[in-house]
Amino acid sequence: MFNALIARQTDAGQTVSLEPLELKDLPDNEVLVRVDYSTINYKDGLALTGTRPIIRNYPLVPGIDLAGVIESSQDERWQVGDRVVVNGWGMGEGHWGGLAQYAQVKGDWLVKLPDALSTREAMCIGTAGYTAALCVEALMKHGTTPADGDILVTGASGGVGSIAIALLAAQGFNVVASTGKTNEGAYLEALGASGHIDRDTMNTAGNPLQKERWAGVVDAVGGQTLANACAQTRYGGAIAACGLAESPSLPTTVMPFILRGVTLYGIDSVMAPLSARVGAWRRLADDLDKTRLASMVKEISLADALDVGPDVLAGKIRGRLLVNVNQ
Ligand code: NDP
Repeated sequence: MFNALIARQTDAGQTVSLEPLELKDLPDNEVLVRVDYSTINYKDGLALTGTRPIIRNYPLVPGIDLAGVIESSQDERWQVGDRVVVNGWGMGEGHWGGLAQYAQVKGDWLVKLPDALSTREAMCIGTAGYTAALCVEALMKHGTTPADGDILVTGASGGVGSIAIALLAAQGFNVVASTGKTNEGAYLEALGASGHIDRDTMNTAGNPLQKERWAGVVDAVGGQTLANACAQTRYGGAIAACGLAESPSLPTTVMPFILRGVTLYGIDSVMAPLSARVGAWRRLADDLDKTRLASMVKEISLADALDVGPDVLAGKIRGRLLVNVNQ
């Protein structure tokens, strides 16, 4: 028997509880992973609370990511004892996810962990950090360099934002953090931000073209903030947009794109190809300072994970929530 969170659909709506399961209850995929850690990402907050219809099949183990060790494999690419990470592919949405002591997954979903990262560190990073790395990769591939000017990171104290700041600072960028938690300036600066701005200065309607401020942007919030970020991006600059913590809307015009040659990159972590995943995890292994990573993380148990959804959605969590599924 092992422990898992299970979401069920009842007449009264969705319930999520901690239950004992047997290995034979797991979905019939090729690789059995003994999970060490999972995490609570924003999407998990939506799923656990049932705020949006993230979960598409019931019953389902939530959790969009996991890190662990392979216990058995019918896929010749994967061997017993391999240390692996899974992000996305519909895990925790249409497929059973990581908030359990075991998961049975498709071989195609697995990424081998770089030697420099433990399974715990991989989930301190989690899908939020892996997505931050995809955003940073997009800016670097665009050709953005530290000499081009400041980089804005929105939703800065959250998971994506915190790790984006640390990765950008490691590459020598001057990073400005946009945050609603203006009392967290010391935390953001310890991660590598050179300063912070109050997110309220970014989330009210402004002109379609504003003073050019940012060589690049990592945006985790969308909405009016993303519209203003586009309007403030310098000629030829780039924005990597991955989130909607403020809003899924984008009330902008074509002006920044057709008059300043600004590029808006959409970042998806869920179905990203293997090569992008391997590149992102390589960057995380190479560039992420482990002391900075440790400062972002709060560790909770599987049972604790039942209650954290509302705080995640209210933006109250600083950094990352790591779930020790064996606690
Ligand atoms: P977190 O909950 O850790 O952080 C989100 C942060 O956004 C908060 O900490 C807060 O930061 C800010 N925020 C919260 N509410 C608002 C609001 N109403 N207006 C403006 N800012 C707000 O989430 P993650 O970092 O894990 O994820 C961030 C976003 O990225 C989410 O929308 C998530 O769905 C998305 N995402 C997308 C992925 C993809 O594949 N495209 C993958 C992973 C995440 P502060 O207080 O500092 O402003």
